[in-house]
Amino acid sequence: MSGTRFLARTALTADESLESYLIRLSLLNSYQSTNSARLIATARLGARGWTDNMRAPRLPETYDLLEELTCVSRKQLYGATVHRFALAIVPPHDTPDSVDLADTGRMALLPNAHLTKWVRAYDDAAFCPLCLEGSQAYHKNSWSIRANCVCVKHGCLLETCCSECGSSLSITDVTLGVCHKCSKPLSRNAVRHVTEEPQKLAMHATMHAWLGLPDYGKADPLGLPDVLPRVLFNVVHGLKWSIGRSRTYTRKELGIVDGVSDETNRVAISDEGANVANDVLFHLLAAAFHCITDWPYNFKILLNRMERASERGLGLGTLYTQWIADRWSTSDYAFLQNEFDDWLAAKVIPSIARTSRYKSRSQMHENRLYVLPTPAMYMLRLGKPTFDQLVAKGTLILLEVNGERCLRLDEVTALRDKWGKAITLQQTCERLRVSKSTAINMIRLGMIQPVRGPTFDGASEWLLDAASVRLCLMNVLGAAHPVSTADEPEGRWLTIGKAAQHATSSNLTISRLLLAIRDGRLPAYWIDGHGKGIHGLRIAKRDLARFVPSFEPVRTVTPRHEVAARLGIKATVVSKWVTSGLLAPVCMEGNAMYFEKAQIDRFVADHIFTEEAATILGIGVLAVQKWARNGRLHPVAGPGVDRVPPLLVSTRGSGSARPE
Ligand SMILES: [Zn+2]
Ligand SMILES: [Zn+2]
Repeated sequence: MSGTRFLARTALTADESLESYLIRLSLLNSYQSTNSARLIATARLGARGWTDNMRAPRLPETYDLLEELTCVSRKQLYGATVHRFALAIVPPHDTPDSVDLADTGRMALLPNAHLTKWVRAYDDAAFCPLCLEGSQAYHKNSWSIRANCVCVKHGCLLETCCSECGSSLSITDVTLGVCHKCSKPLSRNAVRHVTEEPQKLAMHATMHAWLGLPDYGKADPLGLPDVLPRVLFNVVHGLKWSIGRSRTYTRKELGIVDGVSDETNRVAISDEGANVANDVLFHLLAAAFHCITDWPYNFKILLNRMERASERGLGLGTLYTQWIADRWSTSDYAFLQNEFDDWLAAKVIPSIARTSRYKSRSQMHENRLYVLPTPAMYMLRLGKPTFDQLVAKGTLILLEVNGERCLRLDEVTALRDKWGKAITLQQTCERLRVSKSTAINMIRLGMIQPVRGPTFDGASEWLLDAASVRLCLMNVLGAAHPVSTADEPEGRWLTIGKAAQHATSSNLTISRLLLAIRDGRLPAYWIDGHGKGIHGLRIAKRDLARFVPSFEPVRTVTPRHEVAARLGIKATVVSKWVTSGLLAPVCMEGNAMYFEKAQIDRFVADHIFTEEAATILGIGVLAVQKWARNGRLHPVAGPGVDRVPPLLVSTRGSGSARPE
């Protein structure tokens, strides 16, 4: 080749992959090997100081170079990569990366984690034998996607092995149309038709349409939820995964063992889903798709079946823990969450009614007072570990009624409502107009109240009480004095951020300045026309100069031995309470643990030891222990709870306990 172009050039074929195109260009230019064109492109890019993955380029420079080499537009080249499926695959709450292709604009990129998950390996290529017939074989881009297991045009499964010698095939083999091992033309590979299952085929056609693949007459399946295709795509794949991992019994009921030998079914489905063979995947995906048709009817049937298959009722397994409570918890899946709640509402009560003890107790039955732990967990969208942690902390109270461990239904719904009304850290930052780190410091200083969070209940994300955020804003702003610009020359005013910078030597953060303003220890002002919010607050330089020396850094963190001394327990017990989730350190370094003073204050205010409880209630220590056992008091630590000697009782919820 000379100059910047390949001498012989050809157009991209419909749905052709970039790998396939570069292989064909190598052949066309009579290069030494089939990967020469790719190597040339890589070398050229390297000479310009860049490296990129030629299969799925992420750099605009790569697209520029490929356009120069091939005279095919950047947009078309992008369309030949798996990135073209990014918007159809990446879950809605994950923002895909993007690449700026100049005139074409920004195009979505599949994040690397999704590449390994959704894209077939180079040497594990799939193909349709019938598509390879004819003059020019090539490898289709859509065959790279694992979710694609069928050629809708020809009504047959995509093959992944040579039917002659059983060898797996690479993209090069498929592009050349010949098995590298036995040289059999792949167009004469055995074909497995699925045309005898037109409904399932139509479902796959619809899923192909979601991916933006050519439409070979997709059917019009009735009653899909009215949401974005990428949401549906992710729902179907979550269902596929859950069904694939469910018990054989459930799968049989769902009819997904049809047409697959038991042996294949067992081996392939026990696999983690990603590596399921195409024949199984065909049935599995159709079964998952079926569950969202006639929405929400078939979805609820699935829930019923999974529940029935489990031994103790409501055993939704990974469908719940991985998907409903986790990946489908964002607002994009509200349509699904609503239906799940609807289904659950009808189940919560019967699940407890099923126990014979319950049937004998009309009081529980009529008042619908209690709910078993599993449905309560479902109602709160909690995994088992977080649920246990909340119980250990006393946020949730586990009672024993007639020998059955359960929770008060009204407490569960109240907590759920509280969480429902809570706002995220991001929303808190927007309302307060502060950074995330400042907001977290404000939580630590007790200025705003979390309802969930990493050091609060072990949740990965913070959720805050909206009312406390509003109140905090009102209190801080309420403490500031309005002044007009004429009162003080502009140069003497500092914004809160600037004031914190001025005072870095004394370790005064924005949050601590706000606390001082709220408490009236530091005067603040807002100047006309500067916006009535934290960002509009100003501090006078002279006030700050006066405040800084008086500022005694409040120690907010306390080490483990001090906590132990304060509670009158051994340091090892503190560690055990950390393990059981009762206390959460803000920081751990080796054996050392540090706790927030505010958290310890709250903890001390919220809990009492057995003796103290006995004194308050005017009963004996043994009676307190008895009450703890029968659920009138709620022990959070002690014998029978975590095997740590002192019995600790939560004062919350014990108001109703009175001496008999
Ligand atoms: Zn085909
Ligand atoms: Zn072969």
